[in-house]
Amino acid sequence: MNNRVHQGHLARKRFGQNFLTDRFIIDSIVSAIHPQPGEAMVEIGPGLGALTLPVAERIDHLTVIELDRDLAARLAEHPQLKQKLTIHQQDAMTVNFSELATDQPLRVFGNLPYNISTPLMFHLFDYSSAIRDMHFMLQKEVVNRLVAGPNSKAYGRLSVMAQYYCNVIPVLEVPPTAFSPAPKVDSAVVRLVPHAVLPHPVKDLSMLSRITTQAFNQRRKTIRNSLGDLFSVQQLLELGIEATLRAENISVEQYCRLANCLSEQQ
Ligand code: SAM
Repeated sequence: MNNRVHQGHLARKRFGQNFLTDRFIIDSIVSAIHPQPGEAMVEIGPGLGALTLPVAERIDHLTVIELDRDLAARLAEHPQLKQKLTIHQQDAMTVNFSELATDQPLRVFGNLPYNISTPLMFHLFDYSSAIRDMHFMLQKEVVNRLVAGPNSKAYGRLSVMAQYYCNVIPVLEVPPTAFSPAPKVDSAVVRLVPHAVLPHPVKDLSMLSRITTQAFNQRRKTIRNSLGDLFSVQQLLELGIEATLRAENISVEQYCRLANCLSEQQ
């Protein structure tokens, strides 16, 4: 049998289609999400419904965003699902999540297409005030980066931006055998809970974005070199940040301090 055909659907590589088939893993993810009636649940990439079906067993309604037209059409016809779903056949990268949160913050989940998972998370961070929590299946390596703290190899721009917005909690590791077709990499589920009050608010997010991009693009350099055009050594000292540190040694709080200093300068 062609291992890319699943329930009569030919898995499309360009849409990152790896369908979950392991019942134990599926049940563990749904238990971790813990959907409750009345909540505003939104699934990204429902596919053939591996997570959608068990979630829909617990609640009356959910919104799904599926880019693949054939899969969206199948869901619209699905006997157990069609009454319960609002289907957006759309690229999740173009969804305005604030508009979906009409009366309460959203609970977003999904086994994300790995090819767009990082930009999709940056897109979702823009809507973090409209989101109660997120549960995502991602490449394990991406989860490691999301949760990483300073002084580790995995710590980077994604760690800083995710932790600026959210409390990040790893939930579960998932082997390739849990999917059809099996991906080449290990996967993991992560829970991201947007902070009710930002612990280190910045005045201008574009400054945080700019500084983290610049510092991590030259992560081997000390910040006196990588950020030398933005801050003098004296300024770094006044901010309590040693100029000989490298990008991976700077905490989220320190990056926020740098961003606020830069905002004041401009
Ligand atoms: N949830 C299903 C499961 O766990 O078996 C499918 C997961 S599969 C890894 C990713 C799903 O996201 C596919 O159904 C794919 O068509 C859909 N998808 C891919 N790119 C998308 C995008 N930009 N916006 C919305 N859905 C997308």
